[in-house]
Amino acid sequence: MAINPDALDPRLISNTKSLLEDKSRRIVIVTHTNPDGDAVGSSLGMYICLRNAGCLDVEVVVPNAYPGFLKWLPFNEKVIVASDRPQKARELIMGADLVFCLDFNGFSRIDALQDVLVSANGVKVLIDHHPEPEPGFDLVFSYPGSSSTAELVYEFFEALGWSSCVDQEAAECLYAGIVTDTGSFSYSCNNPGTYLITAKLIRTGVDGERIHRLIYNTYSSDRMRLLGYCLSERLVVMPEQQTAYISLGKNDLDRFHYQEGDTEGVVNYALSIENISLAALFTEHEDHIKVSFRSAGDVDVNRFARDHFYGGGHVNAAGGKSFDPMESTLLRFEELVKALTSG
Ligand code: 5GP
Ligand code: MN
Repeated sequence: MAINPDALDPRLISNTKSLLEDKSRRIVIVTHTNPDGDAVGSSLGMYICLRNAGCLDVEVVVPNAYPGFLKWLPFNEKVIVASDRPQKARELIMGADLVFCLDFNGFSRIDALQDVLVSANGVKVLIDHHPEPEPGFDLVFSYPGSSSTAELVYEFFEALGWSSCVDQEAAECLYAGIVTDTGSFSYSCNNPGTYLITAKLIRTGVDGERIHRLIYNTYSSDRMRLLGYCLSERLVVMPEQQTAYISLGKNDLDRFHYQEGDTEGVVNYALSIENISLAALFTEHEDHIKVSFRSAGDVDVNRFARDHFYGGGHVNAAGGKSFDPMESTLLRFEELVKALTSG
């Protein structure tokens, strides 16, 4: 749901606006680990808007690398990847007067940056659309009904009276965030406001068709073959539980020369099978198995990921981790799903 900008708490808006009056304040924008289109799009969109508003010292820090299909975003080269430059990232966060925390709502979501952000003295402003924000943020713009953080960033600048700061480049970033978090307007977007904001972004000169191609039609052949392999060889369907899942071991990833982002979107294919309302993807990493969940209707994968996989997210899209071997992780998942659907 899009929020009427007037609905963004006016007191919070005016507090934030006064913090932004001194243009020399050091501002850092931070987003979550394994940054996706909304994380990077909302962060770079915000970066550009703040620069356009006259803020002189703005930086974007992400915990780790993000997929190649986001590297065309304007000012992508400005992003500081903490896993590559840990010292620089920590110094920036420690020295910031203001830290905008975008597209996450709990400190564990930024992994190695967690302790530095917790102990940093700057004012922490949360702008996010995940449910149940944790305490620890100073100014909280939390709207779980919103399609994306990118949409909220637009509304934030409108509420500040600074919508003119959203130029074409900022709009490209925010558009990318909305498109990726709604699966190209196929979920979390049953609200006219999302389209009205999208229209305003397009009006700045954004070429939506080009952005769609850049995000979705730039598969490497390895990535495309990995997708084919997932669907033909690794898909398990549990019809009685209306569940389908895919698992990928390290050897599978090596075989297809896995690159960051290559499994993005794979879990959605499992959900697009008729009568499937819960889908999962298990991917083996160095020291854990990453789990992605997607669901339809009122199957709450945020709860499921929180309760069983050290994770969270949204009702219909969530993620988590397992520290057990793949085989026992999958067995446990099957048991949990059977219990969930029998009850
Ligand atoms: P994905 O499956 O695409 O990685 O993530 C889907 C959603 O769940 C995103 O909104 C993402 O922010 C959230 N998410 C993914 N992994 C985790 C996790 O380990 N913990 C929490 N709290 N949220 C996660
Ligand atoms: Mn998001």
